[in-house]
Amino acid sequence: MKITVLTLFPEIMKSLLEYSIIGKAVENNLIKINYVNIRDYSQNKHNRVDDYPYSGGPGMLLKADSLSEALNHVVINKSKVIYMSPKGKLLNQEKVKELSKEEDIVIIAGHYEGIDQRVIENYVDEEISIGDYILTGGELPALVLIDSVSRLIPGVLGNKNSHHNETFEDNLLEHPQYTRPFNYKGDKVPEILLSGDHEKIKRWKRYKAIEATIKNRPDLLKNKKNIITEYEKLEKEFK
Ligand code: SAH
Repeated sequence: MKITVLTLFPEIMKSLLEYSIIGKAVENNLIKINYVNIRDYSQNKHNRVDDYPYSGGPGMLLKADSLSEALNHVVINKSKVIYMSPKGKLLNQEKVKELSKEEDIVIIAGHYEGIDQRVIENYVDEEISIGDYILTGGELPALVLIDSVSRLIPGVLGNKNSHHNETFEDNLLEHPQYTRPFNYKGDKVPEILLSGDHEKIKRWKRYKAIEATIKNRPDLLKNKKNIITEYEKLEKEFK
């Protein structure tokens, strides 16, 4: 997959995407990330890329001319153009999965008060928000999108089963996990995980996953009566 990101701060983004899992994926050519500095496409001699909004209002907007020129250089037929925006549709794992199948993604990171509406109308396929709060720029949202999409590309995560049972699969949060040491200052790992009874362990994990979801994200279980019934049954076994 090729991802192009249009930003005023390519260096910030680069430095965060160079490390760990995504860094390796880039090194192994599983993803290619292309950074475009919007300022390089400024259409005036002062290198300005922002201006006051018409009819007033606070702050500045990224101008249509520089952004359009930058987009003209990178957008191809198959590109999916995304503008990170608090006015967009909320990002979720389902959308992440869908985007991980794209071949060419172009992401616009806005700044100041946002971007000229004409860019959205002429180029943008989707506006995506990472949550109901406002950030100063689209760099962090773009990083969130790149990171979440990249880890679903085959080969990026070492273990090919790594996505299974994960939070949001099956609308449930992930069950709790433990690693060595078994006994940390008297606080022991649940014995059942060492029991070797794989069927029972599976049921316990399911019980814990539903329990976590009821506690933190009951909204995910709306209209899921069967899961609540299942939970009550599991509770009898494990409580
Ligand atoms: N005035 C705008 C907010 C601008 S925030 C409004 O009221 O809608 C500045 C930039 O940060 C935006 O252009 C966008 O790219 C980014 N941004 C801020 N919050 C975001 C969020 N929750 N999701 C995605 N992008 C966001």
